[in-house]
Amino acid sequence: MATTTKKDYYEILGVKKSASAEEIRKAFRKLARKYHPDVNPGDKASEEKFKALSEANEVLSDPKKRKIYDQVGFYSDNIDPATAEAYARAGGQSSGGFPEGFPGGAQPGGQGVPFDFGGFDFSDLINNAGHSQKSSGSSGFRDIFGSIFGGGRAATHAEEGPEPGTDLEYQVNVPFWTAIRGGVMRLSITRQDVCPQCHGQGTLEAPGKCPECNGTGQITQTGGRMKFNVQCPRCHGTGKNLTTCPTCHGEGTITNTEPLEVRIKAGTRDGQRIRLPGKGNAGSHGGAPGDLYAIIRTGDHPIFHRDGDDISLSVPVSATEAALGAKIEVPTIDGRALLKIPPGTQSGQKLRRRQKGVPSATKEGVRGDEIVEITVHVPMPRDERTKELLRELAKLNPEDPRAELWSKV
Ligand SMILES: [Zn+2]
Ligand SMILES: [Zn+2]
Repeated sequence: MATTTKKDYYEILGVKKSASAEEIRKAFRKLARKYHPDVNPGDKASEEKFKALSEANEVLSDPKKRKIYDQVGFYSDNIDPATAEAYARAGGQSSGGFPEGFPGGAQPGGQGVPFDFGGFDFSDLINNAGHSQKSSGSSGFRDIFGSIFGGGRAATHAEEGPEPGTDLEYQVNVPFWTAIRGGVMRLSITRQDVCPQCHGQGTLEAPGKCPECNGTGQITQTGGRMKFNVQCPRCHGTGKNLTTCPTCHGEGTITNTEPLEVRIKAGTRDGQRIRLPGKGNAGSHGGAPGDLYAIIRTGDHPIFHRDGDDISLSVPVSATEAALGAKIEVPTIDGRALLKIPPGTQSGQKLRRRQKGVPSATKEGVRGDEIVEITVHVPMPRDERTKELLRELAKLNPEDPRAELWSKV
């Protein structure tokens, strides 16, 4: 029965009741990106959360629907604004009482509001609701009310306006060298695409008139002692003989997995977001598609460490090279290069080679630096002659390398 309990759309989106349309839009986009099923494959909880978000957004992002929701406490396509107004004016009381758990609650004694949900078996309807719901998601209420008002599930979407598609995020693991030199990554993207059979409408038009309302677009509904005319839920007042598209089950979109090439610029950094406009989920009913964001994760290298556009690495030198100075070959991302080790170089000293790092992806002609950290390889004397020479060296240079350390203690 969870479906019929009160849903606080504002709470779901984490916005105040007074939130502006822009605040609602932003809150939805932020949360939708986080909980989108394509970002959390197989995560049921995220999927449920996403459905709830979509439902909340669908109502709150539409001023007309939001008004009805604010007045009545829930939303259905079959409540007309005038009825909602009357309900709100009557102080939210209904003649027959809402079933348990419904917002507004059963408040006996209310008069004159043409709603009576008594006697309906909600559990039955709820079991039918929610199947075939895709991530672009409508849900619960519309189906429930559609059933109550005798329309069945056909053409639920017939009169809906365009809905923009949601954005997608994909993590792209780019190998170390591809990120530096640039290249193309081939991805497999699962996204909502416009249904090819109904072209995103969710419905197909058959010859003849709507069998539900006989083409009038209106049906008469009896609720308790009241009778009232509502828009035909099957054709949404169009009178046309619409049927739910069998390919997309009325969603207007289908799930498609397709290859996508992402161009990686030379110098692309870890954590970078590459926007691919229009490559997100398709909108429904002619709505614009969302964008796809490729989040770059660059790979590691056993020798080179990358920090932004700088490359650092550790290079061992012998004690005599460090002491006397030397020209040694060091690896760079362009191949081998000569590096001058100044005499008296200490272990841990860093030698910066300007403009020998990664070419910048944003600044033309600019490169980072290569930073070579020297590690001095101390000789292991294995013969008497070497030991003698080292002792002689110590006598010649009676320095205390810990003098500075002790002076500061
Ligand atoms: Zn379709
Ligand atoms: Zn109809």
